[in-house]
Amino acid sequence: GEALRLVEVSKTYGTQANPVHALRRASLALPAGTFTAVMGPSGSGKSTLLHCAAGLDEPTSGRVLVDGTELVHGSETAMTKFRRSRIGFVFQQFNLLPTLTVWQNTTLPLRLAGQKIDTGFVRDVLDRTWLGDRVDHLPAELSGGQQQRVAIARALVTRPNLIFADEPTGALDTRSAREVLAMLAEAVHTLGQTVVMVTHDPVAAAFADSVVFLADGQIVDRLDRPDAKTVA
Ligand code: ADP
Ligand code: ADP
Repeated sequence: GEALRLVEVSKTYGTQANPVHALRRASLALPAGTFTAVMGPSGSGKSTLLHCAAGLDEPTSGRVLVDGTELVHGSETAMTKFRRSRIGFVFQQFNLLPTLTVWQNTTLPLRLAGQKIDTGFVRDVLDRTWLGDRVDHLPAELSGGQQQRVAIARALVTRPNLIFADEPTGALDTRSAREVLAMLAEAVHTLGQTVVMVTHDPVAAAFADSVVFLADGQIVDRLDRPDAKTVA
């Protein structure tokens, strides 16, 4: 199926006299189980695209479909519920809770969403993120790369329709970055997850199945890896 579809999504900030067109009729379709990188200069609309796709921001016009269902902006409570059950987030600065162990951080979204904790699946995810022997550690006892892998495990355990990663390797050294990306790409493919990653780093983008390029609010180009299963 299709995990995400944007149909002519536009987002305008500012005033009528002084509009800022952050997104201009951006259209995009991402098959489930694929890893997509979004690249483009600062100010080109990458964050806006992510926010509109994740239901954090409402487009000025156009439609967003997650798993075939159109996103209709309702109350803040309804939108929070939508995000908690359907969307996973990975941030540049990991955003782990310092007083919770790896296991507790990883299972937190399940507790927040009131979902049952499938211990076997959580263990499987932690093994796939190479954290199987770190479950009782605190974030401060881990390297940056390991902390980011906890954040990715945390995003995977709810089996969201979509995971958005905003510069996930921005705070990591080159070697840790490559390890995290290789692990993420593998987890995406073995668990059938769909990931959209904003990055400035071409090396990071090379781990994705396809790369979408933004300029001045428009999708101007797209590269698909020859061996990727994604088809535009
Ligand atoms: P990127 O993530 O590629 O750096 P953004 O999506 O953050 O780009 O921004 C796209 C454009 O929209 C920029 O010109 C930015 O200044 C503007 N913009 C983003 N958010 C807001 C906002 N909340 N209010 C006004 N302008 C904004
Ligand atoms: P909560 O679920 O904690 O009440 P919200 O549902 O309002 O909060 O937002 C979900 C989370 O997504 C928030 O922590 C928000 O800061 C975060 N977020 C904001 N911008 C981004 C981004 N660019 N990428 C990923 N997550 C983001």
